[in-house]
Amino acid sequence: AVPVVAIDGPSASGKGTVGSMVAKALGWHHLDSGSLYRLTALTALRDGVDLDDEIGVAALAAALPARFDGDRVLLGDEDVSDEIRDEAVSVGASRVAVLPAVRAALFGRQRDYRCGPGLVAEGRDIGSTIFPDAPVKVFLTASPEARAQRRYKQLKEKGLPANMESLMQDLRERDARDAARAVAPLQQQPDAVLLDTTSMDVDAAVAFVLDLVRD
Ligand code: C5P
Repeated sequence: AVPVVAIDGPSASGKGTVGSMVAKALGWHHLDSGSLYRLTALTALRDGVDLDDEIGVAALAAALPARFDGDRVLLGDEDVSDEIRDEAVSVGASRVAVLPAVRAALFGRQRDYRCGPGLVAEGRDIGSTIFPDAPVKVFLTASPEARAQRRYKQLKEKGLPANMESLMQDLRERDARDAARAVAPLQQQPDAVLLDTTSMDVDAAVAFVLDLVRD
């Protein structure tokens, strides 16, 4: 079978960055499954489909003209990489992600990314539901303080307003919601290796995952 590295972890844990760098180092494909939920939410918001309309949103998810070009995320020919990170789309993504029909519509699409020589994929049900047989599973985490600090730095670098207090508050709320939800809650798989990057830089985290793959 084509090898898969499954990475999961809380929001702002750096799984997107680490996943992308591990994929590049290995020359493997990369799937950030969260972007599919973000694209679904963006399309629903644009088309005026209610985010609670399970059948309507699932139909959009099934027909999504999603494309990935390096680290850019496209809808057809339109680059929406920045737009899918907007707060409204982030909140929308976590809302549509609790709809079973939406998850079902995205299931086969995610499995199709598994092709040679290998795939690095991240997302909360990647190791449990999409690729339960992934030979390498990593649960990437960091303290809320460290995650808030990283997001703060990112926002500042983009010249956007940022406040540590409210970032911490947002992260704690999102963690609680993600852990408590009935559908695909955030939890560490029993066969996943815990990687706590609180006092680790990105390169060290990438090296750690590469070691797991090469073992
Ligand atoms: O990881 P990211 O923040 O981009 O994910 C966006 C939203 O999609 C999150 O709220 C998360 O709960 C949801 N998601 C999911 N299953 C995945 C990936 C993301 O439910 N495999």
